[in-house]
Amino acid sequence: MPRRRVEPLPASDAGPGLDVSTVGAIVAADYHGEADLIAVLRRAQAEYGHLPEPVVREIARLTGIVESRVFSAITFYAFLAERRQGKFIVRLCRTISCDLQGKDRVARRLENELGIGFGETTGDGMFTLEWTNCLGMCDQGPALLVNDRVLTRVYAESVPGIIAECRHVAAAPARRSEGGASRVTTSVPSATTFSTVEAEAGLKAALSLPRSHITAVLSTSGLKGRGGAGFPTGTKWDFAVAQQSDEKYIVCNADEGEPGTFKDRVILSESADLVFEGMTIAARAIGAREGVVYLRGEYAYLRPHLEAVLAHRRRHGLLGTNVLGVDGFDFDVSVRMGAGAYVCGEETALLESLEGRRGTPRKRPPFPPVSGLWKKPTIIDNVETLAWVACILARGAEWFASIGTEPSRGPKLFSVSGDCAAPGVYEFSLGITVFALLDQVGGAGARAVQVGGASGVCVPASEFGRRLAFEDLPAGGSVIVFGPERDVLAVVCNFLEFFADESCGKCVPCRIGTKRMYEIVKRITSGEAEMADIDRLERLAAVVKRTSFCGLGQTAPNPVLSTLTHFRHEYEERIVKE
Ligand code: SF4
Repeated sequence: MPRRRVEPLPASDAGPGLDVSTVGAIVAADYHGEADLIAVLRRAQAEYGHLPEPVVREIARLTGIVESRVFSAITFYAFLAERRQGKFIVRLCRTISCDLQGKDRVARRLENELGIGFGETTGDGMFTLEWTNCLGMCDQGPALLVNDRVLTRVYAESVPGIIAECRHVAAAPARRSEGGASRVTTSVPSATTFSTVEAEAGLKAALSLPRSHITAVLSTSGLKGRGGAGFPTGTKWDFAVAQQSDEKYIVCNADEGEPGTFKDRVILSESADLVFEGMTIAARAIGAREGVVYLRGEYAYLRPHLEAVLAHRRRHGLLGTNVLGVDGFDFDVSVRMGAGAYVCGEETALLESLEGRRGTPRKRPPFPPVSGLWKKPTIIDNVETLAWVACILARGAEWFASIGTEPSRGPKLFSVSGDCAAPGVYEFSLGITVFALLDQVGGAGARAVQVGGASGVCVPASEFGRRLAFEDLPAGGSVIVFGPERDVLAVVCNFLEFFADESCGKCVPCRIGTKRMYEIVKRITSGEAEMADIDRLERLAAVVKRTSFCGLGQTAPNPVLSTLTHFRHEYEERIVKE
């Protein structure tokens, strides 16, 4: 895309009291086209602490993007801010697994220590306190993000030390403002296939095949997308192969925002090579030259690691021109950052974001394999799916197909959190029963599990014989365990607050419906509702599910509908009798 060259304004012309001359340097370094808008905004925010109007106008002027579009992007993403923020932005995860682990106590302690409430900034401009949605640390919560640094297992007692450390960092300008490395453990209780497969064996096997055979191997294996939708991977790739275009793209969806899901974070930490190998195989299969990893803003601390792995691959001929010496096979991968929006996990919203806009979902069809990034054929696959592609090419379709059930082939990674002795990432064959899984993770005595994250379903103990498989309980990758004392309605309330917050606002049923459902359940939990409210809630949930534009709205009512089916009496018990 041609770049528009405009000279930066002299500082004196930019507006009263604010020197915007740095904007020119940021745009000159980082802006190569519309797709870079979000990256430029993030850089400018890092420089100025927020995105004040004169800075935004200067960005619009220098890039040639109309001001309204720049402002509209800023108002969409949680990590972009128009208002002044503190030097340290402290974001406490409020989603369910951190909630179960006592995030409220941490919240009260943060408020007391800082003397401010959530959404406020301290008078000395040092700290801003905010809630955030899932940080992907569900197995080691409560979790905090301090700027880009993530802290896990944060208890109320840890808060004074964290605040003191930030103040210490602020007083020592030579140190990075993040104040050190993130504190994350990977929590893989058992070795997964990913750690045992031979490096690059899949890519070498793919290069030894006629290109048209690669998708056939995937179809024979029975691999279905591991992000949640479960579409057959080989079929998806065939659509892209069939398109006549000299420009095609491979996108790795690393926007893992579903509450309770953190397996992709572990894969990217432990097995990034396998993911890039899968992307390279995809490029070979469909004829793409460019790949993009869309990494969620909450995982920014993983970016240096991913860039290092990519650089290593380039040095070893695994990316770049003539990959592994194959004449004419050129492919490279870049990492692009999200900025805090759950809906960008929806593939068309992700594409909008990659093109530098608000992440609002597109109308489908056309589907991305036909018309995706920049309207070109695009394969978008989840992190785990791409890693399995490399394994399947390395070990053969028959190996993969021999595991699991007939409609749900292969092994699968599960993020397990909540009330169990050993939360973490586990590899199980698809088709495992909930009982068997709970036995492995120390979840005996659970009263229910949430399968598939907030958008999934709540399964009561009486149904623990059911299978985690596409034909029964499609897991997507997340199982949250609820112990005998847990309040099911409080869980539903937490999920609905999440959806109301993350709705992109494009369509009315979701924008308004998620908020109304939240309000009704809140009324019920606080004993202020009447019996008719339960019927209202059920009808509303059905309408939101049927009429919402994209998957977010279509699945947001699931926790309501599944708990009304299995725990209706708990709703009814909260109604105060006249
Ligand atoms: Fe946006 Fe929700 Fe409508 Fe999806 S369903 S387009 S997230 S408002």
